[in-house]
Amino acid sequence: MPLIQIEDTRRHERRRSIVCHVGNVPVGGAHPVVVQSMTNTDTADATATAAQVVLLAQAGSELVRVTVNTREAAAAVPEMVRRVRDQGVVAPIVGDFHYNGHTLLTEYPECARLLDKYRINPGNVGVGEKHDDNFRRMIEVALANAKPVRIGVNWGSLDRALLTSLMDENARRAEPLSDREVVLEAMRESALRSADLAELFGQPRDAIILSAKVSDVRDLVQVYRGLAASCDYPLHLGLTEAGLSTKGIVATAAALSVLLFDGIGDTIRTSLTPAPGGDRAEEVRVCQQVLQSLGIRHFTPQVTSCPGCGRTTSTFFQELAARVTGHITTRLAEWRERFPGVEQLNVAVMGCVVNGPGESKHADIGISLPGTGEDPRAPVYVDGRLAVTLKGDAIAEDFAKLLDEYVERRFKR
Ligand code: SF4
Repeated sequence: MPLIQIEDTRRHERRRSIVCHVGNVPVGGAHPVVVQSMTNTDTADATATAAQVVLLAQAGSELVRVTVNTREAAAAVPEMVRRVRDQGVVAPIVGDFHYNGHTLLTEYPECARLLDKYRINPGNVGVGEKHDDNFRRMIEVALANAKPVRIGVNWGSLDRALLTSLMDENARRAEPLSDREVVLEAMRESALRSADLAELFGQPRDAIILSAKVSDVRDLVQVYRGLAASCDYPLHLGLTEAGLSTKGIVATAAALSVLLFDGIGDTIRTSLTPAPGGDRAEEVRVCQQVLQSLGIRHFTPQVTSCPGCGRTTSTFFQELAARVTGHITTRLAEWRERFPGVEQLNVAVMGCVVNGPGESKHADIGISLPGTGEDPRAPVYVDGRLAVTLKGDAIAEDFAKLLDEYVERRFKR
């Protein structure tokens, strides 16, 4: 049979030509896709918000957004930023403005000066003439402070006037589009028209980022494909209101993966609803894992492990997978310092002989545990070759030692 040429799907060529600098972070062009997140504290509480900004930044969020919704919040921004910087955290801090951004940014100049970017929702800046006046005031503040803006459209707060006008226009067509299509078109139009308006008011092209978020995966893909085809601004991606836990994570991963795979998306966020008392930094880890799973960026060594089945009779295999992951997590900070590139490490922990040796050979270092009826031995493969066979009660400790030795040997400066 002739061999079929299969497309190399490991390419993620990004095609935005404009690069926007948010503080010290470049967004767009060929720069790495940036992970961002948002606090859920009351910004008027400078201490709590600073603590959460630090938590998110230390988890790997490269931009952190805070809501600036009241005079108290705007007044607290300088102290919050000072507290964050005092802890050595340099991640740019973005202000999220709705309804009263024009007032807050002009009344609180220190807030405007210290934030690294302003998010403007064109659906929430007023109606009619007020819309353009309020929008212009925010752009004037951005210009005066040399700040970039993100024009962030959200379908939950879509510009009603624009939507109505597009609906009317659609009704006059010989073959009208569906309401859904008109809404998605209105989102794209809202983002593009607002960017044009911002440029008309003097905002440089390379100080504008666009987003158009919806909560349905297919709609998000459609909107962003349209947006990417219509402009060269860097794009911020996110499935808005993604939801709780598994649903939120899977829906976000599904949506972002399709677009990132197409080369669309310069910065991403996961909008998870946290469980009560949950860890806000989970949204950062989900973004990182999406990028890592697609091979776009590497943040931490990957552990490949099989799900286990009837061939694995004890919980030892699950415990070993968890222990290896825990070992990597514990050592990672030190490894990153001493062993550049260690994030690219691939480790396999497999349950039996069926796929164990094969998967282990594909990893940098892998262990194949004995399944039901197999000899109680665990072959370890290093760089695709059988290196040693472990047995006895100390397999976990022995494998951790081999892992440490491998990292030291392979990634030493
Ligand atoms: S590798 Fe073995 S234990 Fe793991 S899922 Fe496959 S058959 Fe089951």
